Amino acid sequence: MPPDADIVVVGAGIVGIATARALAGYAGKALLLEQFELGHAHGSSHGTSRIFRLNYPDERFVRLALAADSAWRELEAERGERLIDRVGSLDLGPVAIETSRALAACGVRSETLSADEVRERWPLLLEAGETAVFQPDGGVTYADRAYKALLAGALEGGGLEVRTSTPVRSLSLGRGAVQIELDGGVLTARAVVVVAGAWAPELLAPVGIDLAVVPTRETVVYVDVPEAGTIPALIDYGRLPSPSEGGARAGLAGYALAAPGQGLKAGLHHSGPAVVPGSTAEPDEFIAAWTREWVASRYERAGERLGADTCLYTNTADDEFVLERHGRVVVGSACSGHGFKFAPLVGRTLAALAREAAD
Ligand SMILES: Cc1cc2nc3c(=O)[nH]c(=O)nc-3n(C[C@H](O)[C@H](O)[C@H](O)COP(=O)(O)OP(=O)(O)OC[C@H]3O[C@@H](n4cnc5c(N)ncnc54)[C@H](O)[C@@H]3O)c2cc1C
Repeated sequence: MPPDADIVVVGAGIVGIATARALAGYAGKALLLEQFELGHAHGSSHGTSRIFRLNYPDERFVRLALAADSAWRELEAERGERLIDRVGSLDLGPVAIETSRALAACGVRSETLSADEVRERWPLLLEAGETAVFQPDGGVTYADRAYKALLAGALEGGGLEVRTSTPVRSLSLGRGAVQIELDGGVLTARAVVVVAGAWAPELLAPVGIDLAVVPTRETVVYVDVPEAGTIPALIDYGRLPSPSEGGARAGLAGYALAAPGQGLKAGLHHSGPAVVPGSTAEPDEFIAAWTREWVASRYERAGERLGADTCLYTNTADDEFVLERHGRVVVGSACSGHGFKFAPLVGRTLAALAREAAD
């Protein structure tokens, strides 16, 4: 019996959608399965904005971000729509120096600015002696629009079926096919791509793949900052004010970016607790208050808190991504809180691995 599909993609977060987009034009049958609705808020990919930046202290990531940049620009040209607002990205603190070196080594333009020079350009608060690195090609990805643009491209390519409210209960390996257990029965496929975010380890363990990731629930706050959209996306490796109450938890860096219609979105990178995916939780009030304090310490015109939300990180120990093929099973885990910007690139890599696996 022929399999039900050639390639099944499990998970319709930004990485799954980008993989489906990269499979457009594939001669075989591709099927995308999602346990919830498209665009749901239980995983990692929801919301209106994500930082896009070339700024990384590691040259490898600068080069990957450059390749992702080209992929986003191609998508923008294809859809006739702006998906990244290139307001620039600004890094503060000691890591910024390494970042400017890595950018220069990759031939990427950037400016090192003094505290005064930053204050002349934007309503930000820096102390004398602090330095910043500004890179003008970075900015804010319109996350929800980017998701829809990739989805439209995937559907227009033909040959793709999308099934929502369809949780995959388990995977098993058969002769020449992967069996995919759903609530209503079992599907077979030549290859499966598991891009299930925080849920991936439990799907992969029974087929002998140990995905060493730890999901955490991160809290973000929205703050009223006038003209937030004119200020570069900010990463602050410098000083995080001590939280005014309670015991400190480690947030490696503060970050903030405009969120269209919602003011300034801000968070403390890697500050959230480890969680079991699927568990529901309200924003962590302690982290939300600490984040608001950090915003007030950096933004001259920081106003009231407008809201808060949560989102899952799926963390590897070193923030690297997992993009691997194990026979007929392809694994894509591209998060650790910085994967959105790479999605079109990662999608192409996973689609290529899936084609190979289905041959
Ligand atoms: C607060 C926050 C801020 C971030 N900021 C940035 C940023 O500024 N810049 C940046 O580049 N990145 C950022 N990221 C990271 C980025 O958002 C993630 O890397 C990206 O969204 C990961 O997408 P994903 O598709 O891997 O995971 P997800 O979006 O979680 O998608 C996985 C999907 O698989 C589905 N699924 C799981 N199990 C099953 C199953 N058994 N059957 C069917 N479907 C299943 C889930 O329902 C889900 O839809 C941030 C993340 C968070 C949480």
